[in-house]
Order: sequence, then structure tokens, then C-alpha cells
Amino acid sequence: MYEVLGLNRGATEEEIKKAYRTLAKKYHPDKNPGDEASAEKFKEISRAYEVLSDPVKRGNFDAFGNPEGPPPGTAAAMVRIGVSLEEAYSGGKKEVELEGRQPCPPCAGTGSVSRTRPTCLSCGGSGAARIQNGPMVINIPCHSCQGRGQAPPSDPCSSCFGAGQVKVTRVFSLQIPPGAQSGERLPLAPGLFASLEVAEHPLFRRRGADLRVKAKISLLQALCGFDFRVRHLDGRELSVSGGQIIRPGDVCLLEGEGIPRGKGNLEVEVEIEFPRHLGEDQVATLRSCLGGCEKKEDSPASSASFANFFTNPPVVQKSVLNQKQEESAGFSGGGPRPPPMVQQCRPQ
Ligand SMILES: [Zn+2]
Ligand SMILES: [Zn+2]
Repeated sequence: MYEVLGLNRGATEEEIKKAYRTLAKKYHPDKNPGDEASAEKFKEISRAYEVLSDPVKRGNFDAFGNPEGPPPGTAAAMVRIGVSLEEAYSGGKKEVELEGRQPCPPCAGTGSVSRTRPTCLSCGGSGAARIQNGPMVINIPCHSCQGRGQAPPSDPCSSCFGAGQVKVTRVFSLQIPPGAQSGERLPLAPGLFASLEVAEHPLFRRRGADLRVKAKISLLQALCGFDFRVRHLDGRELSVSGGQIIRPGDVCLLEGEGIPRGKGNLEVEVEIEFPRHLGEDQVATLRSCLGGCEKKEDSPASSASFANFFTNPPVVQKSVLNQKQEESAGFSGGGPRPPPMVQQCRPQ
């Protein structure tokens, strides 16, 4: 299904719609008259879109490999529900609206006021059409009635305009446990389960029970002690402070502030904002202080990190190496960073 549209399993509704539109345009029978391969491809694309654009069918397909649901006599139907990282972190109730189709009540699904439909004249009611291809005769669905065997009603129902089906929206209440994860299955209604899909967060990343977020501080704070605030997923403002020098990419570890269910930690990765411009006086002052640090390099203990900081600004080559380290540590995405130094910081 996903391969047909050139997508992976995590594709968003928007991506599915876009891929379908592009491919359907390319393989549409009107654009490729008489081309059997294109016609077949067009059918596949339409079928894949029908499944992937429907949350219930897609959920069933993801869970059981079958859009119609689980094998008979086994589990219940599955629907895929997207939640934000905030919702997954805090848990709670979420109202979920699902759209489906049901037979139109006034016409009992026939599409006709008199509840009768005339037989399709093209296929004589069989729903099949035959095409001759050299010595071969192939059965395909009748073009006039799309294989139904019935012609459009002469007295179409005004509720469903003759389609026989109407859209219905049902609202379900989903109870999300705090710390929920992607792939978790939760009961939605009798015979219906939700398969959770936790969305990527613009600021926070998650690895198991640990969370990581970036915070910006000034160069002054980086050198002379820092005190800043981080807004957590549940809206709490955490104060992070320390008196030590902090380097780009260093991490402040807030113990116990990760996903509560797994007793995770929150790692605050520090980004340092450098000044865009320094006045002559400021440069002179900096030279006198920091130059002094450099001279003392033979007694390295106190000055090592200062000197290192200015002689080794974030180097690209170094950063690329460290990005690999970060990926192998399991955090997805994120930019390059220099060797991390983990500091125990005090959340207040
Ligand atoms: Zn027909
Ligand atoms: Zn109707």
C-alpha cells in the first residue's frame, strides 16, 4: 500500500494526498489511452489511496496487514490516532472524531426513493464487461455501473443523492496513559482499538523515557554562570542554573524530569548566542582578561576550558563526528554538536 504511493509507514495525511494526486494524474486512463499497464497501475494507486486516506482502514492495515480488519475470530479493529508529545507526556482524555460510511437510512442503502434500482443495461446486471485482447478474453468490472450490476436509480434519494451511503462522524473518548508511546494500543470502543502515533515535537526529542530540549543562553551566561528557564511539555517553567563555564552543546541534566512513567531525565542542550559585534573598548577588555588566561597556560588547571573555548570554536569536522555519536545514542534528528559535557543542574 505504502510502496504503491512511494511512501513510508509514517507518512502524514497531507503526504498521502499529495502522492496520490501526483501519481493519479500521471497514470490516469484518459492520459494513457489503451495502455494496459498504466490502467493497472492507476487501479493500484486508487486502491492504496482508498485505504491509506481512511483512518480505520489504515489502522487495520498497519495492525493486521488487512484494511478490512483482523482475521475472523481474533482481535478487534484498529484505528490509527495521532497525538502530540504533550498529550503523550501528560496523558488524559482526548476526543477522537472518526468518519465512516453507513447505508443511507431513508433509502435503506439502495439510493432510490422506491428502494429499487434498474438493472444495468450495459452488462445486463452481471457487473462484468468482457474485452477481447487478441485470442484472450478478459473480464473487467462494467464501466457503466462500476461492477455493481445496477444502473443509477431513476428516483434518486435526496439524502444520499443516489449513492446509497452517507458519511457519519462518530466521537470516541480515548484515555491516554501518561508517557504513552507510538505503537501503543488502547481501547476506543467495544471491538475497536486505537494505535497511537506520537507526533514529532518541534523542540523536544524523546529516547525511551529520556527527553532532550535545546536552550539558548548568552555568551556572558556561558562564561560567568547561567540561570535560565525551560518550558516543559506540561507548561511548567523549570529554572536551570549553574556557576560553571558551559560550552556549546553541553548538557544540563535535570534528573527525574523526563517521561514520568519510565523515570526518565530531561537533558537540556545548551546553545550559546554569540554577540554580533563588539566595540573597540570591549575587545580591548576581553583581550586583557582572556589574553591573560592564555598566558597562564603552563599552569593549565584553571584556564584550560577558557583557552580551549576560544581556540576551538565549534569545528565542522568535529561536529560531524559528534552528530554520529548522538545518532548512535538513539536520539533522532538534531544538529551537530561538540563533545557533550553532562552537568548536574538544579531544577527549582
Ligand atoms: Zn453494468
Ligand atoms: Zn439515500
